[in-house]
Amino acid sequence: MDSQTGKNAMNIMHGKGVSPGVAMGNAFVYSDVLHRDSELYLINREQIAEEKDRIERAISDVIKSLTIDAKHIELKLNKNAADIFLAQKAILSDPSVIAEFKRVLEEELLNAEQVVRKIFRLYAMKFREMDNPIFQDRGDDIDDLSRRILLSLSGIHAHSLENLPAGTVLVARRLLPSDTVFLSRDSTVGVLAEFAGMAAHAALIARELGIPCVGGIPQLFDKITTGDILLINGTDGTVVINPDNSTLNEFKRSLEKYQKKEDEIVKISRNKNAVTLDGKKIFVMGNVRSKEDVVLAIKRGADGIGLFRTEPFFLSTKHFPTDTEFADFLYTSLEPAKGRYINVRLLDIGADKNPIYLHLPPESDPFLGRRGIRVLREYPELLDAQLRALLKVSQEYPLGILIPMVVTEDDVTEVVKRLRFLSDEMKLSDLPRIGAMIETPAAALTISSLKKHVDFFSIGTNDLTQYTMASGRENPMVSQYFIDDHVSVMRLIELVVEESGDTPVSICGEVAGRIDSVAKILRTGIGSLSVSAALVPDIKNAIMNIRLD
Ligand code: PEP
Ligand code: MG
Repeated sequence: MDSQTGKNAMNIMHGKGVSPGVAMGNAFVYSDVLHRDSELYLINREQIAEEKDRIERAISDVIKSLTIDAKHIELKLNKNAADIFLAQKAILSDPSVIAEFKRVLEEELLNAEQVVRKIFRLYAMKFREMDNPIFQDRGDDIDDLSRRILLSLSGIHAHSLENLPAGTVLVARRLLPSDTVFLSRDSTVGVLAEFAGMAAHAALIARELGIPCVGGIPQLFDKITTGDILLINGTDGTVVINPDNSTLNEFKRSLEKYQKKEDEIVKISRNKNAVTLDGKKIFVMGNVRSKEDVVLAIKRGADGIGLFRTEPFFLSTKHFPTDTEFADFLYTSLEPAKGRYINVRLLDIGADKNPIYLHLPPESDPFLGRRGIRVLREYPELLDAQLRALLKVSQEYPLGILIPMVVTEDDVTEVVKRLRFLSDEMKLSDLPRIGAMIETPAAALTISSLKKHVDFFSIGTNDLTQYTMASGRENPMVSQYFIDDHVSVMRLIELVVEESGDTPVSICGEVAGRIDSVAKILRTGIGSLSVSAALVPDIKNAIMNIRLD
C-alpha cells in the first residue's frame, strides 16, 4: 500500500485484448449483491432500534435513487420505462411494508439484511403465484428492490451502471445483456471482464462503444478495488493497476499518439470509399443497437447500417413493447441514417438473452434450443408486433428485415407469409427487403433453397463459428476452439458467396471488424462488411491497403 495515495502499489497484468484501444480511468468494481450471501446473525432487544434505523435509512436512500433513475430513464427511453421505477418507489413508500419490516425484526430478532431478504422473497413469491401475468412480472421488481436495499445496507450506494462517473473503467466478472443496456460511452472509458473472450457480450459491447476491453484475467476482484487507477490496452491485453509516475507519463504519451492517429483515420473514412489497392469497392456498414450508435456509425463514415440489434431495446422494457412503441424507437434511432441502406434484425432472444417479462421456460442446452426465429414462430404475436412496426417504418425508411437463427426454409417463408398478410391488412404496397442471417451450418449449406425467398443474406460469424466449431461463444473453457477465421468457417463463407449468385451477401459477425482477418474475408469474394460503429474507420483504412489478387 502506498502511504501517500492510500492505494495498492503498481501491478502489471496480462490478459487478452478483446476490444482495441488504450484508456486510462478509475476502476468501478461491479459485483451483484444478490449473488453474495449476506451475513445472518441474531440481534438482541437493545439492537432493535439500531437495525430499524438502518432499514429506514436504506429505504430512504433507495427511494431517492429510484426518483433519479426514473428521470434518467424517461429522458433516455420513454415514460413507460420510467414508470417501472415509480411503481417500485410506491411499494417502498407504503407504510404497511415498513410496518412489516419492523414486525419481523422485533419478533424474530434478525439483522436488517435478513429481514429484507425474508420479506422480499415472500412478496416476490406471492406475486409470481398470481394468475395475472402483469402481477407475476412484479416479482422481478421486488427482487430488484431487495437488491437495491441490500446494496444500501452494505454501505454501497445503489449504483446502477448508467450512473457511473465519467472516466470509469468497469471491472466485472462478466456482463450480461441486461447490464450492458446501461453502459454509455459518456462515462465508461474501458472494460475489464474476468470472463470475456472475443465474442462475449462484454467484448462485443465494448467494441460497439469503441472502448478498449481486456478479458481473461482470473480473480480480478482480488486484485482491483473501486477507485484504483487503471491503464488498459485492449490491443495487447496489458493492464496496469495504480501506475507509478514514469509509467503514467509514458502511457499518457502513447494515449496522445493513439488519439492523433485515430483522428486522421476517421477523417479519411468520412471522406473516402473503401476501395482495395486493386480497385474493388467494399461496402462498410455499422452494427448498432441505439440512436447513439447510429450517430457514431454515420459520423465515422459508415455506408449504412448493416445490422441493427434490437435486443437491448426489448431487454430494457418491463413489458413487451407495443408496435407503436417499437416503431417510435426505430423512427428516433434511425433518423441519423435516413436515406442510407438499413437492416433491422427481428428480436433474437432465447439462449443467453431473455427479457424477464416473457418468462421463457429454462432449457438445459439453451444455445441449441429455442432462440431467434424459433421463439418468434412459437409466439406469433411477438413476430406480428415487430413486423407491423417495421412495415410502418419502412414506408419512410427503405428497410431490410433480418431473420435471426435461420435453419430451415420454413423459418424464412413463415416470416414472408406474415409480412405479406400484415401488409395487406395495413393496406401497404411497399414491402421491406427480407434477409436471412446465416448463422448455422445448415443455413450456409442450403443457400440455393433459401435464396428463393430472400433479398439478401447476412453472415453472422459469431454464431456460425460456435455451431461449426462446437464451442460456446460465452464459454471460456473452450475459447481456444472458438476460431472465427478458421478454415471451416471461411469455406462456409465462400460457399455462401458462390451459391448466392446475384443475392447480396454481407458479413456482420465480429470477425469482419478485425483488421488481421479482413484480407482473408475479402478473398472469399465478400463485398460488404458490417462492423461495430466505432471500428468503421479502421476497417475502411485496412481495406484501402489490401490487394486482393
Ligand atoms: C452473429 O452471430 O455473428 C451475429 C452478428 O449475431 P449476434 O452476435 O447478435 O448473435
Ligand atoms: Mg447471432
